[in-house]
Amino acid sequence: MREFIIATNNKNKLIEIERILGPLGITAVTAGERGIDLGDVVEDGETFIDNAYIKAKHAFDICHCPVIADDSGLCIDALDGRPGIYSARYGGESTSYSDKITMLLKELEDVPEEARGAHFTSAVCCILDDSTVIKVEGRCEGRIAYEPSGSGGFGYDPIFTVDGVSFASLSAEEKDRLSHRGNALRMLRDKLAEIMKTD
Ligand code: IMP
Repeated sequence: MREFIIATNNKNKLIEIERILGPLGITAVTAGERGIDLGDVVEDGETFIDNAYIKAKHAFDICHCPVIADDSGLCIDALDGRPGIYSARYGGESTSYSDKITMLLKELEDVPEEARGAHFTSAVCCILDDSTVIKVEGRCEGRIAYEPSGSGGFGYDPIFTVDGVSFASLSAEEKDRLSHRGNALRMLRDKLAEIMKTD
C-alpha cells in the first residue's frame, strides 16, 4: 500500500488517523515528516465535505502525492446543528476546549435530557491522483452530558456520550470503534481496497 500524507495541523486528529489507518494497512505521514510546508488554507466551505476537499486539494497541489484530509465537528440538535463546521472556532479560535465546553454547557443548561441529542461528523477526502478523488462521511450519534467526564480524547470528548459514557472515558480502541472518524476511515479503506483491486 502506498504512503499517504495526512493534511492536518491538529495533533490529536493526526494521532487518531494514524492509529486507525495503521492497522488497515495504510501508512500515514505528515507533510512535515516529508519536509513539506503546507502553510495555511482558508476553510470557507459550507459543509464538512466541502472543507475536507478544500484541505485535501490544497495539500495535493503542493505535494503531488496521495493525500487524506478530515473535516469534522460536533452537531447539537437543540442548537440546530451548531457548532457544526465551526466547532474548532466556537467561542473564538484561541479559546481553550475547557472554555468552549463551559460555554456550550451554559447554552444547553435549560435543555432537558430527552432533547440533548447530538452527533459527531467526520468528512474525509482522499486524493490519489489528478482524476481520483474519494469522499466519505462518518457519523456517531450520542448525547451531550450535563458535565464533562473522563480524561482521554480531545476537543468535545468529555461532554459527548454514547450509552451514557463520554468519549473521553473510553480507551483509544473503544473510541475508534464507535467514532465518526473511525467510521469514515473504515469506509475509505473499503473504497481504496476496491480501487487497488482494479488497478
Ligand atoms: P477541524 O480541524 O476544522 O476539522 O475542526 C474539528 C473540530 O471539531 C475539532 O477542533 C474539535 O473541536 C471537534 N472535533 C472533531 N472531532 C472530534 C473528536 O473526535 N472529539 C472531540 N472533538 C472533535
